[in-house]
Formats: sequence, structure tokens, C-alpha cells
Amino acid sequence: MGAKVKIIERKGSSLIERLYLIEIAKGMATTFGHLFRNLKDNRNLYVRHYPEVQPEIPARWRGRHRLTTHEDGTAKCVACFMCQTNCPAKCIMIEAGERVDGKAEKMPVKFHIDLLECIYCGYCVEACPLDAIRMDTGIFSVTDNNRESFLLGLEELLATPGACSEEEYKKGGA
Ligand code: SF4
Ligand code: SF4
Repeated sequence: MGAKVKIIERKGSSLIERLYLIEIAKGMATTFGHLFRNLKDNRNLYVRHYPEVQPEIPARWRGRHRLTTHEDGTAKCVACFMCQTNCPAKCIMIEAGERVDGKAEKMPVKFHIDLLECIYCGYCVEACPLDAIRMDTGIFSVTDNNRESFLLGLEELLATPGACSEEEYKKGGA
């Protein structure tokens, strides 16, 4: 048995409609309507003069990474490799060494994050059992003109402060 075919008349098949002149005129009327309205009074336009005016970003916004420290400035990281193992982009490289200050057995002697490969997913932060790595630096614009600059090292990771207070960070949610 053959399928029943219902033929529907195509709309817009007249010559005037196929020339699109009326539709173009309607579109231009909308465009120029906005243009003249905003020329007369631009207070309702939402324009941010970046980079002079920086965006307001929430405390837990995932920006560039940092390693958190104890009060004496030593790394909380114990080189457990959880972040490196969970990183889907495989852009964390850690080299562990023996820790002699009694805080743990191991510590990172090298800790690199390749920002050109990072997808800013935050899995490293989630995976860390010690809250030793965070992405709360507020640094959202990472630019340079050579590849080496995008390879974050241990010193830089430890030296970068968080952009918000501890309370704000904890309140900020996941
Ligand atoms: S944010 Fe994601 S991709 Fe970047 S280092 Fe962390 S786990 Fe890897
Ligand atoms: S940052 Fe956290 S998860 Fe990564 S190696 Fe250090 S302690 Fe382990």
C-alpha cells in the first residue's frame, strides 16, 4: 500500500514575496529604528569598555591556577598525583621529592601546568584531597607571545595569591 502524501502549498511563492523586498524593508526598519533610538539616547546600551573596565567575576570563577600554602609559605601539595591523574588534558606534570619538614612524606619538586593544553575544567581542583590547588586567582586573560610563558612552574603557582578571601571562596559553591 502506497503512503499517503499530503501536498502543502508553499507560502511566499508570489513574485513580490520571492523578491524579498518587503521583508528586507521590514528588517532595515528594525535596524534603523534601533540606530536612531540609541543615537538619541544611549543610556540603555550595555557597553563595557574592556580592558579599561574589567568584568566582575565571582569568587569561585575558574581562572588561572595556583597552589595553596601553609602559614609558613610551604606548599600544601603532597605530590599525590591525583590532579595529574584526573586531568583530562594531561597538562599537569609533577615530579615528587622527599619532604623533610615533617608535614608529609612527599612534596613536589617540579609542578608544571601547560596552559595551552588546559581546558579549564577544574577537575584538578575537584580531585585534590588537600585543597592544595585552586583556580581562584581571578586571572582570566592569559596572553603572551611565546609558548614557554604558558608553562606555569612551581614558583609561579605558589606565588600567585587568591583573588578572594577564604570566606568568599567557601561561600562561592563548587
Ligand atoms: S583545569 Fe582541567 S585541564 Fe586544566 S589542569 Fe586542571 S584538570 Fe587539567
Ligand atoms: S595539588 Fe593536590 S592532587 Fe595535585 S599532587 Fe598536590 S596534593 Fe595531590
